[in-house]
Amino acid sequence: MSSWRPLSLRAKLTLWYVGVMAAVLIASGTVLYLSLSRSLRHAVDVALDQQVRHIEARLRALEQGEDVHEPRAERFTIAPAFVELITPEGAVADVAAASENDRVPIRSETLERARRSREPIREDARTPDGRVMRVVTWRVLDTRGEVDSFIRAGYVIEDIRRAERKLLTTLTLTITLALIAASFCGLGIAAKALQPVDRLARAARAITARTLTERVEVPPSRDELARLAETFNEMITRLHEAFERERRFTEDAAHELRTPLAILRSDLEIALRRERSTEEYQHVLRRCLDEILRLSALADDLLLLARSESGKFALDLAPLRLDVLARDIVEQIRPIAEMRHLDLALHDSGEPLAVLGDERRLRRALLNLLDNALKFTPAGGRITLRLSRAERRARVDVEDTGCGISAEDLPHIFERFYRRSSGGAPGSGLGLAICRWIVEAHSGAIWVESEVGRGSRFTIELPLVENSGGKENG
Ligand code: ADP
Repeated sequence: MSSWRPLSLRAKLTLWYVGVMAAVLIASGTVLYLSLSRSLRHAVDVALDQQVRHIEARLRALEQGEDVHEPRAERFTIAPAFVELITPEGAVADVAAASENDRVPIRSETLERARRSREPIREDARTPDGRVMRVVTWRVLDTRGEVDSFIRAGYVIEDIRRAERKLLTTLTLTITLALIAASFCGLGIAAKALQPVDRLARAARAITARTLTERVEVPPSRDELARLAETFNEMITRLHEAFERERRFTEDAAHELRTPLAILRSDLEIALRRERSTEEYQHVLRRCLDEILRLSALADDLLLLARSESGKFALDLAPLRLDVLARDIVEQIRPIAEMRHLDLALHDSGEPLAVLGDERRLRRALLNLLDNALKFTPAGGRITLRLSRAERRARVDVEDTGCGISAEDLPHIFERFYRRSSGGAPGSGLGLAICRWIVEAHSGAIWVESEVGRGSRFTIELPLVENSGGKENG
């Protein structure tokens, strides 16, 4: 069974090249052939015209009894095969020809055309022995303007036809040979030009998920191929980064799941070693429940981040009052702050801060920030939530007088699973990553300023919606 394969780029380029070349060669060959043939035939026509007009002049001179000189042979570039003088009725009055084979019969319609024409009539005709002859017919007028006679002269143009045929054969042969040569050259040139593309394709094929650190060689020329190689390398770099992110995420997630699972397992194993009292069982079950709650919160966070990255997560946006939401959250955590002997203050300008947001997610983000402030501020410290407007943005600052974050940790704390390198408090390291995702999904910005030993300030800015009259949440 024959199968159809698309043409390679190399073959296509060659075909184009040969096609264009064929068109150019055939066009110029045709022009050459036609102009040569025309000029040869024109030369014959001019010479025959001269002949008949000369004869006409002689006839007139004879009529007027003038002395007529024979023209010198070199006046005419060609010697006609026959010359005839024809009566107005079409009969041959006089003829000069080497033989009968050098004449062609008179056609009455030619005489009719010649009778009316101001120019000699030129036509091709065949001699009795089959040669092609160029024949010129010219009418001679008397003094009254009536046709007095016709003069015909013919010249065998077999030489010209032979020259034409020869030229045609030579042109056909040369063009064919040139095109064959061009095909080979074209294939060679295309192969050479496409060699780097082949190399690039081979190198690209050799790169797999495991060899994403490798790069294809960028040719030193600053051309399209170099750009192609660079673009390809950039794509590999992005792929590599994405693979690395995924790998780290999976590793970190597995690691995070292991600790609570190990605690669960050891608690249950110890509890099962011997018979225990109801209180002891209740204690173990409570500890297990705590761990399970932590695990499911972690699973929720992981799912949230995974969905946010794949863009499959839609926010439930509605106009809301950020100031009202913040006040509510502060009241919600006040008991915990008091329990930990922390001073929790709210600085509120009283201005309404209407934003378009997903209330559940924004609550989560603010709670995360306050929860961290509670976690990282020792007893006696102070936590302040400040609400303000910054141009067309609503601004929330969460400040604490806690331990602060070192300059070394600061650039990383919004990364997934990032926890401070020393003195870490319990946590998954996902809280700030989720905060950042929530804020950015709301077209907002989040940043931190911090100094070790003095405290931190986390700031969120969200676009305000003016005059929307956001509902008083809850
Ligand atoms: P976690 O859930 O572990 O708190 P986060 O993403 O919320 O994770 O925070 C990442 C890290 O940033 C924390 O482990 C902590 O080291 C640091 N951090 C966050 N907030 C504060 C803060 N208010 N003061 C000091 N360090 C903080």
